[in-house]
Amino acid sequence: MKHVTMLAAALALGLGAAAQAEEKFITIGTGGQTGVYFVVGQSICRLVNRGTAEHNLKCTAPSTGGSIANINSIRAGDMDMGVAQSDWQFHAYNGSSKFEEGGAFSDLRAVFSVHPEPFTVIARKDANIKTFDDLKGKRVNVGNPGSGQLATMEVVLAAKGWTMADFALASELKPAEQAQALCDNKVDAIIYTVGHPNGSIQEATTSCESNLVAVDGPAIEKLVNENPFYSWATVPGGMYTGTDSDTATFGVRATFVSSASVDDETVYQVVKAVFDNFDRFKKLHPAFEILKEEEMVSAGLSAPLHPGAERYYKERGWVQ
Ligand code: GLU
Repeated sequence: MKHVTMLAAALALGLGAAAQAEEKFITIGTGGQTGVYFVVGQSICRLVNRGTAEHNLKCTAPSTGGSIANINSIRAGDMDMGVAQSDWQFHAYNGSSKFEEGGAFSDLRAVFSVHPEPFTVIARKDANIKTFDDLKGKRVNVGNPGSGQLATMEVVLAAKGWTMADFALASELKPAEQAQALCDNKVDAIIYTVGHPNGSIQEATTSCESNLVAVDGPAIEKLVNENPFYSWATVPGGMYTGTDSDTATFGVRATFVSSASVDDETVYQVVKAVFDNFDRFKKLHPAFEILKEEEMVSAGLSAPLHPGAERYYKERGWVQ
């Protein structure tokens, strides 16, 4: 009996060591800690890491600068996967807009799309900002370098024929700092392209008097009509203190991307961890509540599907 137990212990030790030797670490790029990308990455990793014993994957999802930083890190091979706005997925794959200079990232692969992200403007009540055009001459936090929202803000400004010089101040504070900057009267407005409800917008709208601002008009209409990765969006009235009616704006979709150089089995296991446990995933953030599996395999995706993701979607009958 004693011998058997010892043998079992030795076997367990041996197996443990073997499993450890084969463990593969994967890194997912997210965004600021007050955003929803961080929750996306943390949630995916939580589900992946529940199955480490079976697939040997160990997942981490550190905070990053956002969409552009994530795409660049995946391209450099520093990260395996990441979250990126649908507009920047498109431009990275096609080598357009901000990615014209670096050239097309033709190995970029789509995995799935996540929540919608309205381009959201929040202004101090005393700044008297009723429409986007009222931002002219004001102090505005346009977003941190590396974020998708700063890049999208640049697109909006170009569409309107403005530049950053049209603002009295264009600060590049991180999402975690922007609510306080607004309420300390360091800026008149902040811009955040993010899933709702969002904690940092809740902070900005409850710590001081502020409200959401509509983003529409001919220039935005043209952007939405001419680009498949933009759509109209509404932030429901009552979601944030100080804004009782719906706010019209445009938006993108958060998407999960990887590279053709990440192996199929790894991407398959990550996708499987999410969709085999989808009810659990959806409970991890209110912005995920409305997600539908079949929609997530195509909405907002412009790069080709990663073969590892495609394999899982075929098994489930979501793609042909
Ligand atoms: N859309 C933002 C970006 O790409 C990030 C939003 C978030 O962190 O949830 O920079």
